[in-house]
Amino acid sequence: MTLLSVEGLNKRFGGVVAAKDVSFALAAGEMLAIIGPNGAGKSTTFNMVGGQLRPDTGRVLLDGQDITGQPPRQVCKLGVGRTFQVAQTFLSMSILGNVQMALIAHHGRTRDLISDAATLYRTEALALLARVGMESDADRPIGELAYGDVKRVELAIALAAAPKLLLMDEPTAGMAPRERASLMQLTADIARGQGIGVLFTEHDMDAVFAHADRILVLVRGEVIAEGSPESVRANPEVQRVYLGQ
Ligand code: ADP
Ligand code: MG
Repeated sequence: MTLLSVEGLNKRFGGVVAAKDVSFALAAGEMLAIIGPNGAGKSTTFNMVGGQLRPDTGRVLLDGQDITGQPPRQVCKLGVGRTFQVAQTFLSMSILGNVQMALIAHHGRTRDLISDAATLYRTEALALLARVGMESDADRPIGELAYGDVKRVELAIALAAAPKLLLMDEPTAGMAPRERASLMQLTADIARGQGIGVLFTEHDMDAVFAHADRILVLVRGEVIAEGSPESVRANPEVQRVYLGQ
């Protein structure tokens, strides 16, 4: 069943064509990677799906509903989550508190914050932390964590909004290879286990080929190849223009 359908997206910035007739579909529980050289239009495509950018032409459908050009808040409400950057978390607050805050925001319970902040959604937050393997660190301030663990907490925070689709633009940037593989594995397990669609970009080709169900290759705003990791790896054009082989 199609969760996300992207139809003929175009986006120009002045003379730069950042996206040209970009189309693809993503099923629930599927991991789709978008790869391509710097400036290929990966982030532009992400931002048009997430509502941060309005396409010049084309449509974005989520569960068959047209969400093109909707503001990010609305897109998020409709079920498109993004992993947040560290800067958007509360560094001195506990990990548990951060996940509780995300749940409180998602459920619109901010008015109850003053009276109930410590107990609100505590059980649910602990369950999310358990899912990303961070339950035993629940009371530590997020600012104390190793980078790879922060990324796990960011995943828990994104899951607090109960997304149908998760957008991850370079989720493992700055991570060591082993941490990278483990975050990707965790993401894939959660996606497949819960039927969440994941759209991600990633520089590390080992991680892409190991974890993506399908790969879309962008070059200068255009899709030049799409398919299974095996077919993309074997595609002569991909090898020539992208993998440099
Ligand atoms: P990628 O994420 O694949 O590296 P981007 O989507 O960020 O690529 O960028 C695609 C092209 O669009 C690049 O040439 C980039 O310079 C240009 N671009 C992206 N965002 C903007 C913007 N806000 N204003 C002008 N040009 C932009
Ligand atoms: Mg980018």
